[in-house]
Amino acid sequence: MKTQPVTVDGSVTHALHEAHQRFANNHHGKNASYIPYLASVPANLFGISIMFCDGTHAEVGDTDYAFAIESISKVFTLAHVLDDIGPQSLRSKIGCDPTGEPFNSVVALELHKGRPLNPFVNAGAMATVSLLKAENATRRWAQIESTYQAFAGRDLTVNEEVYASEASTNQHNRGIAWLLQSYGYLYADPMEVCDVYTRQCSVAITCQDLVTMGATLANGGVNPVTNTRVVTAKTIAPILAEMTLNGLYDTTGDWYYKVGLPGKSGVGGGILAVVPGVCAIAAFAPPLDVAGNSVRGQLAAEHLSRTLNLSLLH
Ligand code: GLU
Repeated sequence: MKTQPVTVDGSVTHALHEAHQRFANNHHGKNASYIPYLASVPANLFGISIMFCDGTHAEVGDTDYAFAIESISKVFTLAHVLDDIGPQSLRSKIGCDPTGEPFNSVVALELHKGRPLNPFVNAGAMATVSLLKAENATRRWAQIESTYQAFAGRDLTVNEEVYASEASTNQHNRGIAWLLQSYGYLYADPMEVCDVYTRQCSVAITCQDLVTMGATLANGGVNPVTNTRVVTAKTIAPILAEMTLNGLYDTTGDWYYKVGLPGKSGVGGGILAVVPGVCAIAAFAPPLDVAGNSVRGQLAAEHLSRTLNLSLLH
């Protein structure tokens, strides 16, 4: 069996460049368009980064381009809330099971009497935001911002253009927030929660930020660049459980089959995979498959997982 790298070496940089070369001309998929801003992002952008728990990293392509974090934000808000309330409470209030329906499904909520089932569908993500202990929107936002910044190891900002684009088109999410409240699964004001959730999706990150955020999860909650503990070690397993079961929308099973790693994608084109105790892989390429996952991002992760022997199933 091939050995697994634990730091950036020749095999890692070779695999990274090979993945970029191999998939850069793959033009399958389409940018998300239900959020108007996302449709305008250049579709040919493609970056891949890897970071090991020792802080060494390698990157190729457009890894400095700032894109909207979107659904990947759900992982890091979850990290903060899990740290605060613990996995038992999180599981009873939200859950860890696939809904079998699209990420913004109202049907899924109705079928389960309002229980969101997991924190990575929009309903569960808004329930997660509502569990932040904060008495107003400013304080709620401050916790999210400082958590994301600690994960990334630098100041991050909201892309106000993305936020404006989402806030003017998020009527469906507002409906979900009200529905959650009517069923007793929202723990703060619905419109405050929906707005803070919309803001968290609009945070601008680069592939380099994303890989640092993922490497912090891989490294047991300690950011390997700043050496600062961001979340407790016991919080990591529940986060990875959620990513394993629900990280890639309706095709999480396909992803796990091919990549064998906990992952999370967002409709902004970002994708993250975590190899516990070893490294994280982040990729960015805007065109998405029908489930909402970056086409080239998935191919890159699969290639790296296979060539570097990173799958947890091997
Ligand atoms: N802001 C997006 C939404 O709420 C995020 C969706 C995603 O990336 O899955 O629809």
